[in-house]
Amino acid sequence: MIPYGRQSLSEEDIAAVEAVLRSDFLTTGPAIEAFEQAVCAATDAPFGVAANSATSSLHLACLALDLQPEDRVWTSPNSFVASANCALYCGAQVDFVDIEPGSWNMDAAALEAKLQQAAAQGALPKIVIPVHFGGQSCDMPRIHALCSAYGVKIIEDASHAIGASYTDDVGQSHNVGACIHSDICVFSFHPVKIVTSGEGGLATTRDAALAQTMLELRSHGITRDPARMQGESHGSWYYQQLALGWNYRMTDIQAALGASQMTRLQDFITTRTALVQRYQSAFQDWPVHRPHLHQENRSAWHLYVLCLESRFDRRAVFDSMRAAGIGVNVHYIPIHLQPYYRRMGFSEGDFPQAERYYNGALTLPLYPDLTHEQQDRVITCLWEALG
Ligand SMILES: *Cc1c(COP(=O)(O)O)cnc(C)c1O
Repeated sequence: MIPYGRQSLSEEDIAAVEAVLRSDFLTTGPAIEAFEQAVCAATDAPFGVAANSATSSLHLACLALDLQPEDRVWTSPNSFVASANCALYCGAQVDFVDIEPGSWNMDAAALEAKLQQAAAQGALPKIVIPVHFGGQSCDMPRIHALCSAYGVKIIEDASHAIGASYTDDVGQSHNVGACIHSDICVFSFHPVKIVTSGEGGLATTRDAALAQTMLELRSHGITRDPARMQGESHGSWYYQQLALGWNYRMTDIQAALGASQMTRLQDFITTRTALVQRYQSAFQDWPVHRPHLHQENRSAWHLYVLCLESRFDRRAVFDSMRAAGIGVNVHYIPIHLQPYYRRMGFSEGDFPQAERYYNGALTLPLYPDLTHEQQDRVITCLWEALG
């Protein structure tokens, strides 16, 4: 089976992990900061806080922005459930903003209309979580301008998008993760993502106080910094719990793998981009909607997704690809249609663009070690599957 995504590990990656295993620290050691610094350097972010998953990082980000049970969070229905669940962990309410065709990202025009309506009803969200679907940045300058006008905070779910960049209205390029148009940006290092640490997440921010809060909440809400304590420190063994935190720590084993992988970030994206160009030209005249890349954007190309025209039976196409040994997938089942979310009152028809897209969506294999021969087989099989 050719999978839809998989990690690319080098001998250097393996040696980096081995070195940690032979060192003094398996967790909370020097590899964590080295990894955080590698991600900060690659994204132009001043602060980075690693965690054991992006799901944990999203939760930490919501906590740092003081999300409370009476608050609301809006995200994209076209995402993994973690983008919405993080709000529920804080007891907040979740709602969604529909997507735009082409990029399948959160539609900034739909956001504008929904914000206007919510402002009139006194029901504005505290946080909006745009998701950079497939690796392409959302329209962050516009989303940021809209959210700022209403005092709404932004957490970017950039689980797909480390190494991506976009250009603002005055032609300046920004890396996803630099947080020029958001409060916090979260990356995932799960093995199917661009760069892996086995499991792992990391939140970047330009705000030192947000970084400090996420750092403390990642480890039980505890500090060892006398300057942060109430009253006097009792001595160098002393720590204080300042808030209710979690154990969301990443191990040094994971951090070492992540830092080693980060040295190949540009290579990974170059290889993915070249493979995508082959797909894009192969499918040029096919009855499929190809992903539309905004010209000024550099996608990290986590996913290569097609949307089949409605006359095709996606399920039959999917099954025939799988039967041929091609590990196609579907990203994403709209979050609001999950049984858990339906119980909150969501139903079919709530976000028609996300639903229409889902009905035709098909994710094709894309990862750095995919060979041209394998890719050609994917293309041939798809042609046959479409009949
Ligand atoms: C993978 C993913 C997550 C969760 O990442 P983990 O590191 O597995 O917790 C969250 N959001 C999106 C969009 C993802 O693709």
